[in-house]
Amino acid sequence: MVQEYEVIIVGAGPAGLSAGIFVARQKASCLIISKDLGGQLNLIPKLENYPGTLMSSGPLLAKTLESQYLAFGGEMIYDTIEKIDEIETGLRVKTNRSEYIAKAIVLAPGKVPNNLGVQNESAFANKGVHYCTKCDAPFYQGRVTATVGVGGYLLESGILLSRMASKVYLIYKGGALGGDKDMIASIEKKENVELVPQSSIKSISGNNSLQSITILDNSGKERTVQVDGLFIEMGSKINLDFVKHLVKINTKGEIEVSEGGKTAHPAIFAAGDATSIPYKQIVAACGDGAAAGLSAFNYIEKLKGRPGIRADWKKTIGDSVFHY
Ligand SMILES: Cc1cc2nc3c(=O)[nH]c(=O)nc-3n(C[C@H](O)[C@H](O)[C@H](O)COP(=O)(O)OP(=O)(O)OC[C@H]3O[C@@H](n4cnc5c(N)ncnc54)[C@H](O)[C@@H]3O)c2cc1C
Repeated sequence: MVQEYEVIIVGAGPAGLSAGIFVARQKASCLIISKDLGGQLNLIPKLENYPGTLMSSGPLLAKTLESQYLAFGGEMIYDTIEKIDEIETGLRVKTNRSEYIAKAIVLAPGKVPNNLGVQNESAFANKGVHYCTKCDAPFYQGRVTATVGVGGYLLESGILLSRMASKVYLIYKGGALGGDKDMIASIEKKENVELVPQSSIKSISGNNSLQSITILDNSGKERTVQVDGLFIEMGSKINLDFVKHLVKINTKGEIEVSEGGKTAHPAIFAAGDATSIPYKQIVAACGDGAAAGLSAFNYIEKLKGRPGIRADWKKTIGDSVFHY
């Protein structure tokens, strides 16, 4: 028999787990379906900017969020969602191994950073090789770094690193930098940034952590430079094939959301890195996950003819105005 839930959440990253906590705590039946626990949190061994914790790690945060969610009676299965479709009684969620029905859905499928594709890249991940400059540049105060990537990602990476690192090699394939003119002008003025055009990274090496990179230019000339950190900014993959027929997707491939995680479909809400929000960071994913979870809960309460949880509340009694 097909199992039915009031809310099904796609993804057990910080957005999905936070949505789950807020749905399950209201005693609505809730299932999180995810390929793994934590999503991109698994790429963060040292987490410095999650408010309220001084020293944490991505996997530890994922485990804590999961325990909190399960303690409120939420359910979780590890599986991959292949398709979501509208049916008369709600939404049908087809996975690799099974099928479920939900009244409302929260999408939190996040994204996956693209690799550079050089040998040993994964062995040096978080040991000198990084995929999120805005997250990890602060670890490189006064150290030598390189950044390689495309378009605006590369420009932003170069600017962020130039504020922290003693030296930044900015490596790109083309003859000229592409993207925002002000950002390019800003980079060109930085004394600690060396532009390395018409080049790519041939190899990376080190012992326990990254020590050097070998740069290959278009004429075939090789040059090896010592670096402490290499930032790979090749963009990310967001896969929304399973739901793209039901929600609106913007030109960047993200789910368009409005206040409270609303999408173009009245029963589908979304949060986290796969959405159109700026500043893709954990605390933002958690906050938006909570809002999307509450919106989904309110949606199912409305189906039952109940008022749900008010987003905001204001009442004037006599001379006093009360805000909640
Ligand atoms: C290297 C790196 C370092 C970072 N460091 C920091 C940092 O220091 N501080 C910070 O605030 N942010 C950091 N970030 C960003 C942060 O990790 C993300 O903003 C955050 O994880 C987004 O959460 P999310 O829940 O939207 O998505 P994700 O974390 O990507 O989770 C998505 C989940 O959905 C699952 N999923 C996807 N598709 C399906 C499907 N079809 N079926 C089932 N499951 C599916 C995935 O398996 C995953 O579990 C970093 C990111 C990277 C890549």
